[in-house]
Order: sequence, then structure tokens, then C-alpha cells
Amino acid sequence: QAKSRGRGRFEFFDVELRMRMQRRLRMEQDLRDAVHSGQLWPAYQPVVDLRTGDMVAVEALLRWTHPKHGEISPAEFIPLAEESELINVLGKFVLHDTTRELATLRSERGLDLSLKVNLSVRQLDDPHLIPAVRDALATTGLPPSALTLEVTESALMRDASAAAEVLTALRSLGVLLAIDDFGTGYSSLAQLRRLTLDTLKIDRSFITGIAESHNAAAIVSSIIAMAHAVNLTVVAEGVETPEELTILKELGCDQAQGYHLGKPLAATELFH
Ligand code: C2E
Ligand code: MG
Ligand code: MG
Ligand code: MG
Repeated sequence: QAKSRGRGRFEFFDVELRMRMQRRLRMEQDLRDAVHSGQLWPAYQPVVDLRTGDMVAVEALLRWTHPKHGEISPAEFIPLAEESELINVLGKFVLHDTTRELATLRSERGLDLSLKVNLSVRQLDDPHLIPAVRDALATTGLPPSALTLEVTESALMRDASAAAEVLTALRSLGVLLAIDDFGTGYSSLAQLRRLTLDTLKIDRSFITGIAESHNAAAIVSSIIAMAHAVNLTVVAEGVETPEELTILKELGCDQAQGYHLGKPLAATELFH
């Protein structure tokens, strides 16, 4: 009896697994089509300089408006894309689309704005990445120094030495590099020093609660001090309240992003 119950359980898992795999395959095919049918588009979130209060940059955050399922979060479809070469197709699309948009805003509207683009660690393995970045800058005329490429800390730490080589090559193009979601990847200062980075983004989980907890604020304060000691610009992610903003200013944080400062919006909404 136990045996048959066991078998039944296996069959149940089998069906569930097969359904999940089918859904995944369908989504992957949908995602492939999405690139070519305009369902993928970059939202832009303002990045604010905390000394002047000016919007100095925007971060491109990819959006997928699925014809049947509606808005799908990048937290869901980026990992799916990372399972195949599809991530390189998406990455190239984002690079070209956003550099073109920013170059146009700068030349036609006279906006002195920088662009931040997220890179998947899988893209660092793509031999076409460096030519693609060079090509995007050359065809749009966006100055390399106006582009920052963001890679998450956990992704970097998975293979820091291999990543270091690609990052050095990217940086020799004149673009800037940021470590994203800092604090979630257990990297040491020694590991960080080997990478030529320009910006450190403190993960949202460290910002939440700094207005209520002295300890939380002290941790952010020490991250800022550490980053400044090695000449990194510090950006706080996920600022949701005016109190958090005030504290970050007091702690000497350089820049901030978050719903309190501006949600990610389509370019037509942000720059109407
Ligand atoms: P990320 O680069 O760390 O981006 C920050 C995320 O936090 C974004 O989520 C943003 O919408 C959200 N956020 C910003 N301010 C606040 C706030 O005040 N409160 C809260 N709760 N959330 C806030 P999103 O857009 O869902 O993107 C998730 C992640 O997907 C990004 O994290 C990034 O790692 C990845 N991603 C997005 N676009 C791309 C892309 O074009 N390429 C690659 N490779 N990854 C991307
Ligand atoms: Mg980012
Ligand atoms: Mg982040
Ligand atoms: Mg993130």
C-alpha cells in the first residue's frame, strides 16, 4: 500500500514537472517572439544626485508586456533568458534601444543625463558583448562616459577572475562599471579591489529600515565609508520615504533611486 502511494506521488510530481517544463518552453518561445514584436521595452528610473537634487541619470529596467499574461517582471523572465543564448539577444536589444534613446534626449532636448544598463553575468561570457557595446556607442554617438554597466555582486563573485578580464576590456572602451545589489553577495573588500569599478549600489534591503533602526543606518554608513575609501560613487537603491532620503544625505551617500524619487516609467512618460 505504501508502495502504491509512493508511486502515485511520483506520478503527481511527474505531471507537475511536465506542466512546469511546458510552461517554461512556451514562455521561452514567447520571449523569443517578444523581442521582434515590440512587447519588450525599457522603463527608465531616475537616479538623483543627493547634493544638488538633480536627476543625473536614468536606469533602464526592461519590461515585458505579454499579449495574454500582461506585465511580466524581469525578475521572472531574465532568469529564463539566462538559460539560453536568448539573454544575449535581449541584452543587445536593450543596449541599442536605450543608448539610442539617451543619445536623442541629450542632443535634441539638451539633457545632461547618463544611462545605466543592467548586464547579466551570462553576457560577460558572450564574445560579442564588447563589440556590441562599442557598436551601440559608435552608432548612437552616446559618449562612453555617459554609460554605466551594472552587474550584480552575487553574479560577479561566482567567477570573479573571469569577470575581471571582461570588465577591464569594457572599461577600456571608456564606459563606467557598477556593482549592483551590493551587500547580498558576500564579497570581500579584497575581491572588490581587484575589479576596476566606479560605482557601488547598496541593495534596497539595507536601505529599508534606516529611518527606524540606528544599527541599520550604521551599516549603511560603514558601506558608504568603505566605498568612498576606494573612490567609488555610492548609490542607494529603493529609497521609499523622505526620512530615508534625509538620512542618506546626512550619511554622505552620493546618489539615490527609489519610488520616493521616481518610479520606472516609459520614456514618453518620464520625458513628456
Ligand atoms: P536592479 O537592477 O537591482 O533594479 C532595481 C529593481 O528595484 C527594479 O526592479 C526596480 O523597479 C525596483 N525598485 C526601484 N525602486 C524601488 C523602490 O523604491 N522600492 C521597491 N520595492 N523596488 C524598487 P525590476 O524593474 O523588477 O528589475 C528587477 C531586476 O531585473 C533588476 O534589479 C535587474 O537585476 C534585472 N533587470 C532589469 N532590466 C534588466 C535588463 O535590461 N537586463 C538584465 N540583464 N537585467 C535586468
Ligand atoms: Mg541595476
Ligand atoms: Mg539592484
Ligand atoms: Mg536587483
